[in-house]
Amino acid sequence: MAASPCFKLIEFTGQAILIEFRPRLRAHRGKLGEHGSDERGAEVHAASFLHRRLIILDSALLRNKRECERILAHEIFHFVWWKAPAIRTEYGSLIGREFITATPGEMGWSADWRKQALRAGDVANNSRAFREYLCESFCDSCACLLLGISRHEEITLPASARKIRRHFFEANLAGRRLKV
Ligand SMILES: [Zn+2]
Repeated sequence: MAASPCFKLIEFTGQAILIEFRPRLRAHRGKLGEHGSDERGAEVHAASFLHRRLIILDSALLRNKRECERILAHEIFHFVWWKAPAIRTEYGSLIGREFITATPGEMGWSADWRKQALRAGDVANNSRAFREYLCESFCDSCACLLLGISRHEEITLPASARKIRRHFFEANLAGRRLKV
């Protein structure tokens, strides 16, 4: 995978990942399809297929370089999350502490709506919904931290918590070779 200048802080290693752009992506019942006459399904910006080593991005992102970078970085961090159990554990501990202090907000909508949808017991039981939230939270956070995005309409996490996440990123990811 060719390194983009914005990825200079981290070296990603592994088999090639194919990145495809497709028009008007929509997801319906967990399946990704192109939007045609069928109006069902929610609009999505991107999807990753880990075993197929494929990232599909909505071609509308080609008109917004900054947003395209943020979404692509988010998707690449899905591969990091998949390959790094120690980082998953560390990040889970960090988020566990945020829940103890009832920290609101997130670093992106993908994590935010999942956080808002969590039910009592999800965190303590490490439920599937909580684990999916954790993964999206990691990907949203790392994308912003990697690209130096501190202001964005989707960033709602308080500054104090953002600082702690930045320390996590610097301690566990920055300057590393990460398997994807
Ligand atoms: Zn995601």
